Parts: sequence; C-alpha cells; structure tokens
Amino acid sequence: MKYYSLNKQSPSVDFREATLRGQAPDKGLYFPERIPQHSTPFIQQLRNFSKEEIAFRVMEPFVGDTIPKNVLQEIVTETIAFPFPLHTIHEDIASLELFHGPTFAFKDVGARFMSRCLSFFSSNATAPTTILVATSGDTGGAVANGFLGVEGIEVVILYPSGKVSPVQELQLTTCGSNITTLEINGSFDDCQALVKEAFMDEAIYSRMNLSSANSINVARWLSQQIYYFLAHQQWEYDKPPVIAVPSGNFGNLCAGIMAHKTGLPVQHFIAACNVNDTVPAYLKTGAYQIKPSVSTLSNAMDVGNPSNFIRIMELMNQDYDTLQRMVSGYTITDEVTLETIQKVYQQYGYLLDPHGAVAYAALSQYQQANKNARGYILETAHPVKFPEAVKEAAGIEAPILPAAMELFGKQKRSIPMQKDYASFKEYLLSR
Ligand SMILES: *Cc1c(COP(=O)(O)O)cnc(C)c1O
Repeated sequence: MKYYSLNKQSPSVDFREATLRGQAPDKGLYFPERIPQHSTPFIQQLRNFSKEEIAFRVMEPFVGDTIPKNVLQEIVTETIAFPFPLHTIHEDIASLELFHGPTFAFKDVGARFMSRCLSFFSSNATAPTTILVATSGDTGGAVANGFLGVEGIEVVILYPSGKVSPVQELQLTTCGSNITTLEINGSFDDCQALVKEAFMDEAIYSRMNLSSANSINVARWLSQQIYYFLAHQQWEYDKPPVIAVPSGNFGNLCAGIMAHKTGLPVQHFIAACNVNDTVPAYLKTGAYQIKPSVSTLSNAMDVGNPSNFIRIMELMNQDYDTLQRMVSGYTITDEVTLETIQKVYQQYGYLLDPHGAVAYAALSQYQQANKNARGYILETAHPVKFPEAVKEAAGIEAPILPAAMELFGKQKRSIPMQKDYASFKEYLLSR
C-alpha cells in the first residue's frame, strides 16, 4: 500500500515512510492510494473472530509488507489489551466505552499502535528517535503512556503550567524512564510554537532524529478503525447503527468513515461538536469557515481548524453532496452538555463525560427527526478526567478509578522552563 500526499507535490511513500515522516515534505497529509475491501463473510461473521484477529485483519492491508505478520500480530495485540464494551444506555442509544486504556481516553489506541510501529521501524537506528509533543492535556498522557519503555524512543512532552487537570498532569509527569516532561511557563500555543520551531531548526535537525506524534500520523489515524469493528461485533440489531462521534480534529470520525468504506455496515455518521463547529456549520450552510477556538467543557474538542477534515473530504471524493448524505453535524452548547450529563445520570444511572455528552445530545436530536434510528456514541474519555463538570451537572463526585488513585500516590517530575526558544533549544542540545 502506498500513501500519497493530499497536496500532491511530494512522492508517494509506503506505510513505514508515512509513519516516520508524519507529514509529507509538501506539508500535505498522507492518504492511502486505494481503499481495501473486507470480504462479506468476514463482516457477517465478526462474532466468530477474536478481538486480536479482527484488529490484525483491519490493519494488515494498510501496513502492507512494511511489518512482518508475526510482529504486526504482536503490535495489535498490545494495542488493544483492554476491553471495548458497547454498553446499552437505553434501547436506542449505546455507549462504546473507549476509556478503559491506561490514560482513560480513546487516544490510547492510536498512541499505542503508533509507538510500537515507530519502535519497530527505528530498531536498526544507531541513535534514538526523539518524539516532541506539545499537549493541552489528553494527547500528552496517551503518548507518554504509549511510548513508555519503548526501546529506541525518547519522548519530550511540553505542557502549559497550571493549565491541565490534576489527573492529566499526573499522567504527564509521573512516567519517568524514557519520558521527560517540560512544564512551560506559558500557554498551549506557546508549547506548540516551541515544538514547531525545533522542527525547523537545522542545528537540532542535523543532530537528532526528531519525530512528532500528532494526530495526523497515519499510524494513529488508521488504527482507530479497529474499535468500530469491535463495536459491530457487539451490535445486536439487524439494521446498521447510527454512530455519533464527539469531534475536534476529526481523526476519530475519519477513521470510522474509512472503516465503513472498507465494508463495515453503518447507517449514518454524526459529527458531534461543541460550539467550535466549523464542520456542522459547513454541513448546514455549505461555507467552510475556520475560526479561532473557544474554550468549552469538552476541551479536547476546542478546535477551530480541524486538521483531519481534508481526509474526510477525500473519502467523499471531494463531493459535498456525498458528505451530506453520510454525515450530519450538530452543535452542542455547554449548557446542553451539562443538562445531558444530568439527565442521563438521573434517568439511566449512566455517567457521561462532557465529550460523550456532546455525542449523546447530538444523537438524541438526530433520533427526534429520524424515528427508529438506533445507534451508539463513542465515549472518548472517562468522567474522572473531568470531575468539575460532572460534579456541576450530576451533583456527584466522579467515581475514582483504582488506576487514577494509584496516580495520586506518585511523585510529579517535570522540568520547569520559560517559553523562550533559546532555553528550549539549549535543553534539547544538552540531552
Ligand atoms: C482528542 C479527543 C476528542 C476529539 O477527537 P478527534 O479525533 O480530534 O476528533 C474527543 N474526545 C476526547 C476525550 C479527546 O481526547
């Protein structure tokens, strides 16, 4: 399988190159040259396959011959080494719980798959690969955990001091080993600017093997297809589901649409957004307008210019009508998010996090207009990550997970740093 750049100015590469590079030299996103098709018997008999076999079959055509079969089997087995239950909230809405991984959010899947691929691809390298990541919270934790102890890889995480939740901060700062965390006296944008500058700095580039772990990487994007298949294995109705995806950069939804294109039955997709609703607005008006992001309760979706949307359009052959037939968009305010958490908890005893609540509200609205449309939401994070919103809405303390309790007993380790590039550069060169 080859991958071309959506900017069409760089040569096509294989999965290995695309994963190592992240972005094409022409700054385009990589996209597979063809869409593999699963056989009808495989789809009809998903129940007869193990989780690991499904994951292997989903990823194999995209990976091609860049990873030997037995190694890929090991990689996917480690990637999905936790449950993916499809929990029924009520007759018409289920919740695909993607928060049973080590950092309690769905990004664990992509980060674990990508880290293991990178480790395999750089196993012959003489110098370690250094991954630089700027994070506003969730990504850094998933990447730190995904790469923890992975040979040949060093990770340097930058996060804005005082601007992440307590659980997130502990996830970022307690790994140790090959993970180093810089606590930057500035904002998330400052962290991201430092990382970008390092990538363009010849003095650094010539001395270190640098790589990034952001969400446009094909290894992160495509491995997110796996759990859509695992959900279908648990889907009990004849008619395919409507799937509501809480979306920010649109990598998760884009993976779902790719899974559908390869043969997975899906009735309709819902792009569920908070007020950062570039895509729902586009679906409504036909005008695509990026805008500065606004802070909300579902902060992992506070994105004004979603980086993966261009891939979704490529899956639609750049056709707006095709997009409208397959995807509906909804804008959910913080007020409705809180009401939804409260209502679902009171009526069904099920506690949503703010991201899952956005998806639930969107799916409910869709069902009001489309009777008999059963479906599920992707519950992308555990409520324990967002205790304040949960407390405000449901009036209860989010249950503490044993794994989160363990975090509170650990020692935070971070290197405080100013937001000027000179300090960052000096630090990198002294490593
Ligand atoms: C990152 C994230 C999202 C958004 O996912 P995209 O793939 O960027 O659309 C949604 N929910 C949570 C909890 C996240 O961490």
